[in-house]
Amino acid sequence: MTKIKMPVPLVEIDGDEMTRIMWKMIKDYLIEPYVELNTEYYDLGLIERDATDDRVTFDAAMAIKKYGVGVKCATITPNAQRVEEYNLKKMWKSPNGTIRELLDGTVFRKPIIVNGITPSVRTWRKPITIARHAFGDIYNAQECVVDGPGKAEVVITRADGSKETLTIASFDEAGGVVRGMYNTTSSIESFARSCFAYALDVRQDLWFATKDTISKKYHHRFKDIFADVYKTDFEEKFKEAGIEYFYTLIDDAVARVIRSEGGFIWACMNYDGDVMSDMVATAYGSLAMMSSVLVSPQGYYEFEAAHGTVTRHYYKHLEGKETSTNCMATLFAWTGALKKRGELDGNTDLVEFAQRLEDASIKTIEQGVMTGDLYLLSELSHKEKVNTEAFIKQIKMTFEKMQGRGE
Ligand code: NAP
Ligand code: MG
Repeated sequence: MTKIKMPVPLVEIDGDEMTRIMWKMIKDYLIEPYVELNTEYYDLGLIERDATDDRVTFDAAMAIKKYGVGVKCATITPNAQRVEEYNLKKMWKSPNGTIRELLDGTVFRKPIIVNGITPSVRTWRKPITIARHAFGDIYNAQECVVDGPGKAEVVITRADGSKETLTIASFDEAGGVVRGMYNTTSSIESFARSCFAYALDVRQDLWFATKDTISKKYHHRFKDIFADVYKTDFEEKFKEAGIEYFYTLIDDAVARVIRSEGGFIWACMNYDGDVMSDMVATAYGSLAMMSSVLVSPQGYYEFEAAHGTVTRHYYKHLEGKETSTNCMATLFAWTGALKKRGELDGNTDLVEFAQRLEDASIKTIEQGVMTGDLYLLSELSHKEKVNTEAFIKQIKMTFEKMQGRGE
């Protein structure tokens, strides 16, 4: 059998702990036997980040800008305990945060759906993809507890020195709380652009919601920027693609999402996205079945799993004990990246290979072979819990059977 060729490299970003172990297994069993894998490799494992003073993270992001597509393994974001555990020079920043800043991207999280695991919301038959605007609002705010009588104001000082002062509140003896928060036009615009571009790419409707009836300036600005970007650059393309941009109030959106059958992209302001992504993920089942892609407004893509490095399983693995860690989201990061690379290069063989691998992995679970997290959720009457490696081998068997029958 001849292996599928890749003329342009994929940016491969390795990571930490249990996901690093699965990363190698996925390549060894499921990709390299069939594809002449052409990657530019960056090791973002914590040891290498520390050794390079985190330069390697910057280099990986630049490589995605150069080639357009990357696939990333989960990585440790160090805290005080990790600084001790790995004897780090310093508490390096979150690699995902660094890459997101450099690419100015938006993260889209999408559940992988299989028969036998029914979402908690009965009507959801297709995935709901959540896009979170991961900049500003309450996440970059100044806050203050006011411990007595006084006045709170917002003062805007313009470049020419002119000032505008707005009174927020006057406090009595009991005081209160105040917050000053902001967002920037360019960040909102990039967010909107990434959302419209991604919707067009996957040919799904885009929903966006704020509370503009109450927040007549702040939220309204988001609504207006989305409307402008849509009108100027996307309305025609959406019509051609037969998809819709739908704006509504956030409380109406929540009600409609629950009644929907899924199959659309839901763009959320920062806080809404933080809360709703956890709710939607939980309602679909397991964190290990949530895939994620970072899309920049220029059209660069970085695929990854939404979950972390699964530390608890890794420590078990180090003790020589068997683990049953689910590789699905990490596998879908690989297939997503290979498909995108294939699309950009007109490499139909690569696109079809990645699709068949996804189909085989879903079929494996639907035939009753799965990891422990899914075993707890699955309603199948014949189901078997297998370990990390056995699951990957089973996917390979399903894949080869499907090939043999030309399915
Ligand atoms: P986590 O790695 O997502 O794991 C939390 C728990 O979720 C696991 O202990 C496990 O539950 C379950 N789980 C997650 N993925 C699973 C999978 N593939 N298969 C089976 N079960 C799975 O989160 P964490 O333990 O809070 O974080 C670990 C490290 O990951 C941290 O150092 C953090 O900085 C990093 N992190 C990285 C990223 C990223 O790179 N994108 C994202 C989040 C966190 P049970 O233990 O109950 O089996
Ligand atoms: Mg959250």
